[in-house]
Amino acid sequence: MNIAVTVKEIREQVSGWRKQGLSVGLVPTMGYLHEGHKSLITRAVSENDKVVVSVFVNPMQFGPAEDLESYPRDMDRDAAICEEAGAALVFHPDASEMYHNGFSSFVDMNTLTGGLCGKSRPVHFRGVCTVVAKLFNIVTPDRAYFGQKDAQQLAVIRHMADDLSYGIEIKGCPIIREEDGLAKSSRNTYLDEKERKAALVLSKALSEGRKLIELGERDADKIKDTMTGIINTEPMAKIDYVEIVKWDSLEPVKNIDGPVLAAVAVFIGKTRLIDNFIALED
Ligand code: AMP
Repeated sequence: MNIAVTVKEIREQVSGWRKQGLSVGLVPTMGYLHEGHKSLITRAVSENDKVVVSVFVNPMQFGPAEDLESYPRDMDRDAAICEEAGAALVFHPDASEMYHNGFSSFVDMNTLTGGLCGKSRPVHFRGVCTVVAKLFNIVTPDRAYFGQKDAQQLAVIRHMADDLSYGIEIKGCPIIREEDGLAKSSRNTYLDEKERKAALVLSKALSEGRKLIELGERDADKIKDTMTGIINTEPMAKIDYVEIVKWDSLEPVKNIDGPVLAAVAVFIGKTRLIDNFIALED
C-alpha cells in the first residue's frame, strides 16, 4: 500500500488503474481511524478493485473556535489500519497541497446546510463540500463512501454529487458503535472517564426515541421532548440540538409520515458529540 502526499502521485496511480480497466472507491476521512472508518474501507474494498483512503484534517471545515489544532492525529497507526482493511493507496496531503496560496474557489450549498449542525457550525459544510469536491476531482472514483454517523454530511454530499453531475455513486454506511452504545468517533478520545460515561446519554435518548416511533408515535415534538428529557438528566450534558427532520431533504417534521432522521448534538464538557438514527426508511 502506498502513501501519496501530492495530487500528482494520486493522478498517476489512478490513471494506471484506469488503463487496466479497474474500478476505484474513495473513503474520505480526517484520520485517527477507528472501526467506523474501517467499516467504510472494508465495504469499499468489497465493491471496488482499488480503494483510496484520504486522511486529511481539513482546516476549511473548522470554525475559528473549534478543535483544528487539537484534533487527534496518528498517521502510522492510520496507515496500518488502511493496509489491514485492504486499501490500495492513502492520500495524506499537507494543507498547502490542497489549498495553494490564493485559493479562492468554494463549493457552497443553499439547501440542507442551514439547520442541524450548520446552525452552530456556519462554515462547516462549505469546507466539507469544497474538500470533498476537490477529492472527487483528484481521485475521480466510481464510488465514494460516507458514514451515516454524519447523516447531514451524507445528505449534503449526495445532493452536491447530483447537483454537480459527478457521476459518482455515494454510498451511505451504518453507524458503528462501542459495545455500550456510544457511536465511535475520533473525538471520543477527548472524553475523560466521567465524560465517557455521561456521553452514553446520546445513544440512550436516541434508542428511546426510536422505540417510540416503533410503537407508533408520530408526533415529532413528543419524541423530541422525550429525548431532550433523557439528555437533560445528565448534568454534564449541554444540548446543541435535538431534531427530527425528513430524510433526506432535512426539512422539519411535525407529523412523521415517511423516512425521518432523528439527530442530536450534545456537548459533554467541551466535547461536541453527534449521533442519530433513521426511521421508517423504505
Ligand atoms: P471523519 O474522519 O470523522 O471525518 O469521518 C470520516 C468518515 O467516516 C465519515 O463519512 C464519517 O461519517 C465516517 N464515520 C465516522 N465515525 C463513524 C462511525 N462510528 N460509524 C460509521 N461511520 C463513521
